Amino acid sequence: MGKSCKIKLYFKIMKVGGFMLIKPRQVPKELSMARSLNARMDVLAEEKWKIEKGLTGEVKFDALTDGMLQNKCCIINGLWLKSGDSAFQIDKLMIFLRKIYLIDVKNYEGDYHFDAEGRLKKGETFIRDPLNQLERAETLFRKLQHQYGYNFTIESFLVYINPEFTLYNAPQNHFVILPTQVNKFLKKLNMEYSKINEGHEKLAELLVSLDLIDSPYANYPDYSFKGLAKGNCCCMCHRLSTFLRGIRLVCRDCGAEEPVDDAVVRNVREIMMLFPEMKITTKVVYEWLGGHISKRTISRNLIKHFKSVGVKKNRYYT
Ligand SMILES: [Zn+2]
Repeated sequence: MGKSCKIKLYFKIMKVGGFMLIKPRQVPKELSMARSLNARMDVLAEEKWKIEKGLTGEVKFDALTDGMLQNKCCIINGLWLKSGDSAFQIDKLMIFLRKIYLIDVKNYEGDYHFDAEGRLKKGETFIRDPLNQLERAETLFRKLQHQYGYNFTIESFLVYINPEFTLYNAPQNHFVILPTQVNKFLKKLNMEYSKINEGHEKLAELLVSLDLIDSPYANYPDYSFKGLAKGNCCCMCHRLSTFLRGIRLVCRDCGAEEPVDDAVVRNVREIMMLFPEMKITTKVVYEWLGGHISKRTISRNLIKHFKSVGVKKNRYYT
């Protein structure tokens, strides 16, 4: 029995317990790009691994929050914001009655320590202390809320989520949550007096509307349609290693299965992401998929899931 591609990420927009999820966790664009270019061009391996690991940590913290948080608040999962010329990222933002919590989740693994000068290290390697980055985000977020006339108390927390993570000589800091303290942290959030109203929701929606979607610091290598390897990337392991079995694509490497129709739609979105200017036609998608999927199947899915522009030979989809 193959693994289904459907169980991937936490996806729900509704009131879960007492909180309101304004933006569910999504695969960051930087990761989608890295997955695609890594499979088709053999680049960005390290970036892909890093962001993949970060996302796993965030999803794990989301699951704990969904299970334990019962207090009234608005939650936004994953934001890239800009204040002035400076961009900053927030993994999870929680709006309570009078407070906003900015949460950075780190999925670091292994033994880390602070040296005598207070610098963070893993073995002999210096690591940029994520707390500095979080303090920067807090300062920029404070500016941003003032710009829109809000005056919430802002507090930020750094959550180390991986149970295999140990931090030695850590200076006392209640804004740093170690793996063994995560449950206690969520319980504390439940104790806080909170109520939310339309004003809180409006602020959450404003923040989502300001989301830059992709990291402005992302640096993608040059690529072209012609230069990328063709075929379907597996929906689970993202390798170009699927074959057609009836109406499903099956992965030789990880065993994942996906209906061909779903794969076609996913591939069209992949082309659109990589080549936003390209006119999507049946021929383009056919070539992209390495000629393994019939033009009839591709055309049927284009008509069903996308908007067609033009007629006959000049028809393309958006
Ligand atoms: Zn696979």
